[in-house]
Amino acid sequence: MKPFRYERAEDISGAVATLARERSGEFLAGGTNLVDLMKLDVMKPAVLVDVRLLTSTAIEDLPDGRLRIGAAVTNSELAADQRIRARYPMLSQALLSGASGQLRNLATTGGNLLQRTRCAYFYDTTTPCNKREPGTGCSALEGCNSDHAILGASQYCVATHPSDMAVAMTALDAVVRIQGPGGEREIPVTELHRLPGEDPERDTTLEHAELVTAVDLPPSTFSASSTYRKVRERASYAFALVSVAAALQVADGVVRDARIALGGVAHKPWRAHKAEDAMRGRPAVEESFRAAAEAELAAAAPLRGNAYKAPLAANLVTRTLLDLSERR
Ligand SMILES: Cc1cc2nc3c(=O)[nH]c(=O)nc-3n(C[C@H](O)[C@H](O)[C@H](O)COP(=O)(O)OP(=O)(O)OC[C@H]3O[C@@H](n4cnc5c(N)ncnc54)[C@H](O)[C@@H]3O)c2cc1C
Ligand code: SF4
Repeated sequence: MKPFRYERAEDISGAVATLARERSGEFLAGGTNLVDLMKLDVMKPAVLVDVRLLTSTAIEDLPDGRLRIGAAVTNSELAADQRIRARYPMLSQALLSGASGQLRNLATTGGNLLQRTRCAYFYDTTTPCNKREPGTGCSALEGCNSDHAILGASQYCVATHPSDMAVAMTALDAVVRIQGPGGEREIPVTELHRLPGEDPERDTTLEHAELVTAVDLPPSTFSASSTYRKVRERASYAFALVSVAAALQVADGVVRDARIALGGVAHKPWRAHKAEDAMRGRPAVEESFRAAAEAELAAAAPLRGNAYKAPLAANLVTRTLLDLSERR
């Protein structure tokens, strides 16, 4: 492990300013992903700026009905919050499907959003990987790619984004609040993560030293009728092969509205706009749900090892929507 400096600041502005001065540095939250990557020499920051005690640990109701989640709220606290469980059940379920109890007690909202891919080659410093070392190539393209992306990938990287929480936040149209050297800004979570393109070393649209301070969930309209379902190789303590976060609004047997996001299929949580559009105004029956899922997955470009993901995702979306429609 490369030696590094550990820094603490008085406040958020100080933390941002400290990191902005460093060419090679990272914010440290729970450390459950970053420290692992440092031990493996995958990430080699010269400085860690600890923000775990600086960003908010509060989950606050805002006057306009939004719910603000501080960046330091742990995954355990967020999953257990009664407002999350009642108004945004898909988010609580997504969190509880991730990692283990001990990890969730340490992992934070900011760190979970910004955790790095689980592509095995990214972690193995003896192999080429464009995300770890730009220009070296992508070992997964012709290697073991059964866990990899079927949507939105490029010839430079076919990795998937690992966060369950981010998939639910994507379906919920969450907004990420950021403080950086240039001040504060907000972006929809759908614009936080990137597709790999020619520069897969960049996971997100954040600039150096930009700190996630909170995530806002919009007022709950029909998100109370929502769920998260995850398919993985074993029943717990495993990342998603494919997952779906879905909310459904049905009236008189017709789909009025839907929110769907997929995990495990792309370099970012994948908002399924085509499926949502295909369903609105259609009868809330299996045929409509399957047609919508297939509309979304028509663009799937499987690799040698992951052709199973497109039918798996179609079945998962169909089954999940059917279950939601039958709950009413
Ligand atoms: C064995 C194991 C199994 C796991 N299984 C799952 C799973 O099934 N599903 C799942 O979703 N996750 C899973 N995880 C990942 C886990 O959820 C993440 O490691 C955790 O959420 C990261 O949060 P953290 O606070 O520890 O982040 P850290 O490790 O501290 O940071 C992660 C990254 O985010 C950056 N960062 C942290 N906070 C901020 C901030 N406020 N602003 C800007 N940048 C920031 C850091 O610089 C770093 O690059 C698993 C992890 C392990 C070790
Ligand atoms: S898929 Fe991405 S992370 Fe994995 S080896 Fe290829 S470039 Fe690296």
